[in-house]
Amino acid sequence: MNKVLLFYPNAEDKAHWLPYAILTLGTILADNEFEVVLIDEVLYAENPREIEKIVEQNIEDTLFVGISSFIGNQIRNGLKFAKIIRTYNCKVPIVWGGWHPSILKEVTIKSEYVDFIIQGQGELIILELANKLVSKDNRFSDIDGLIYMDNGLIKVNKERKFVQRSELPNYNWELIDVKKYIVEDKAISDKTVSYISSQGCPLNCGFCSENAMYKRGWYANTAYQMYDDINFLLKNYDIDGISFYDSNFTVDKKRILTFCELVIRSDLKFKWAAAADILFLRGLTNEEWELLRKSGCTRLLIGAESGSEKILNLIGKKFKPKDVIDISEKSIEFGISLYFTMIVGWPENPIDDFQKTKELIESIREKTLEHEFIIHIYAPFIGTPLYQYACENGYIPPKTLEDWANYDYYKITTPWISKEFLEKVEDYRMHLNISYNMNKNRKKYKKDIVDRGE
Ligand code: SF4
Repeated sequence: MNKVLLFYPNAEDKAHWLPYAILTLGTILADNEFEVVLIDEVLYAENPREIEKIVEQNIEDTLFVGISSFIGNQIRNGLKFAKIIRTYNCKVPIVWGGWHPSILKEVTIKSEYVDFIIQGQGELIILELANKLVSKDNRFSDIDGLIYMDNGLIKVNKERKFVQRSELPNYNWELIDVKKYIVEDKAISDKTVSYISSQGCPLNCGFCSENAMYKRGWYANTAYQMYDDINFLLKNYDIDGISFYDSNFTVDKKRILTFCELVIRSDLKFKWAAAADILFLRGLTNEEWELLRKSGCTRLLIGAESGSEKILNLIGKKFKPKDVIDISEKSIEFGISLYFTMIVGWPENPIDDFQKTKELIESIREKTLEHEFIIHIYAPFIGTPLYQYACENGYIPPKTLEDWANYDYYKITTPWISKEFLEKVEDYRMHLNISYNMNKNRKKYKKDIVDRGE
């Protein structure tokens, strides 16, 4: 009995990304002779009964079940799955990993649907746990990074050091039906898949959940690993676009430029997009921008956050609004569009900050309409540097696991934000959307005329 079921709960958002959280765990288990069944709930949205059938077929010889979850809908859907497991077999251990159990340890381990928590980077922990369970060894205290209950007491083992992704096996694509994850991405190509080449981020932005999990560490595939994976995906699945889902793709400049050179040298033809740091882009020479372009980069996601220097300082950003304007101009020279994420509704001076953010956006739009902007409302997130500050300013955080299951990053309300403020933000969002789409349609119209030779 060495079968493991790994479940990725539906996050219920629009994105349709490869479930790397369970793919990487499944890879290391499969490499060590465990039989792995991956269940990505989003694939069964039309027919949820199929999930029960998979459980029914596999549960009797399952060693344990793993559930990976972020805060919000994934907790709710993960709990739903755990209840199904308990209905079919009340003895099979249920192991949780990912953001939510790693950060909300105590509240999670007390749930009747949780037997173990894997804290932080899970690959080596899950392998050690699997080996213990297969040999029926109940001494878990020597598995660093594991949390469990022992005679009614919560046992939190020593934290485990993260390892570089280059020390872990390359993703085993055979565990997953990659074709089901090929999507159209208007800024990349109509045959795009997501890819994660690194985890964590060494920076410490006040609102960002990345550090709650990775504690400012950054763990990455090498440029060669990335190249091998992407080469394999392009050659085997008729894909011509890659959307990098790394939180900060550009931490190591040498890694990125080596990757671009490998792509150009081998004449690998595809388009790609990723999240990039403003200071990384500010430091690029024209030749380096050209390498990005030639290797297929079409769009970069930029966390510009605010037009107010005071707020940038408050949230720990090291760039100035002027840097944002500079890179917006430079990227256009190289045909790379930028997708700026802005956040408004901070606990300090939200009205002044929103005004300055609009001014920054408009000063960019005066020069080019090629870039896109999305405006989020600040949502306090547990474990982040600003969380305590938000609580001191009247934010009442969720308490129970069920409360955290209802946490919706996009719908959080904070006491310092009024309904009128939210309406003004919504109006401005609409204005940005309409004008961006009009520009795109105008360009498409002109291109169609040229193509038709009119
Ligand atoms: S917001 Fe981006 S740059 Fe800042 S800590 Fe998070 S991942 Fe890093």
